[in-house]
Amino acid sequence: MRLDVISLAPEAFAPLQGLGVIGRAFGAGLAELHTHNPRDFATDRYRKVDDEPYGGGAGMVLKPEPVFAAFESIPLLPRRRVLLMSPQGQPLRQEDLRRWAGDYDQLVLLCGHYEGFDERIRGLADEEVSIGDFVLTGGELPAMTVINGVVRLLPGTLGAAASLDEESHTSLLLEHPHYTRPASFRGLEVPQVLRSGDHGAIARWRAEQQQQRTLQRRPDLYARWQAQSTP
Ligand code: SAM
Repeated sequence: MRLDVISLAPEAFAPLQGLGVIGRAFGAGLAELHTHNPRDFATDRYRKVDDEPYGGGAGMVLKPEPVFAAFESIPLLPRRRVLLMSPQGQPLRQEDLRRWAGDYDQLVLLCGHYEGFDERIRGLADEEVSIGDFVLTGGELPAMTVINGVVRLLPGTLGAAASLDEESHTSLLLEHPHYTRPASFRGLEVPQVLRSGDHGAIARWRAEQQQQRTLQRRPDLYARWQAQSTP
């Protein structure tokens, strides 16, 4: 998958390519990352990328010309999605990551700064993405979140593909608890059923735990799961 990031801080993305499983996926050529700095496309002598808002108010706004020029310098593939990072976007979900990893060969990620984008820049995007109901100073961490989550899902990134099917947010239910050796640690015991060797009982216990956990921690997800599983 080709990933193009438009950002005023392209250096922020360098560590991604050396980081554990995701770094290895880049190393193996499963994904390639290209950064584009709007400042390199500014035409005035100060390479200005921001300006005061029309109508007044605090903060500066990202100018459209250098962002459009950066965007237009990117070779666009037929199966691409353009994502604009914004606290006003749709909250990011695992199903979005699955959709982008599965349906597209290229993601273009637009990172904002300052007070945000000139409104006309929004027209470049297919979707606006928020990583939560809070405000960060720039779109770099949100874009890295998307990149990490998408590259993780590309075939070949993770060894055991089965682990993807069982994990939290794949089926709306959160994942069941995990234990490893020792069976007893500081008086805390691994549940007997997991040591029983009875695979049917283990599967039932895990399914119950998933439901209980989701009901306790995320009643919103539990309600969606119930609605989906009721014929
Ligand atoms: N004034 C803007 C507003 O109220 O919507 C917020 C601008 S924020 C300080 C600067 C940039 O950081 C945004 O344009 C966006 O790219 C990014 N950003 C901040 N919080 C974000 C979030 N929760 N999700 C996605 N992007 C975010």
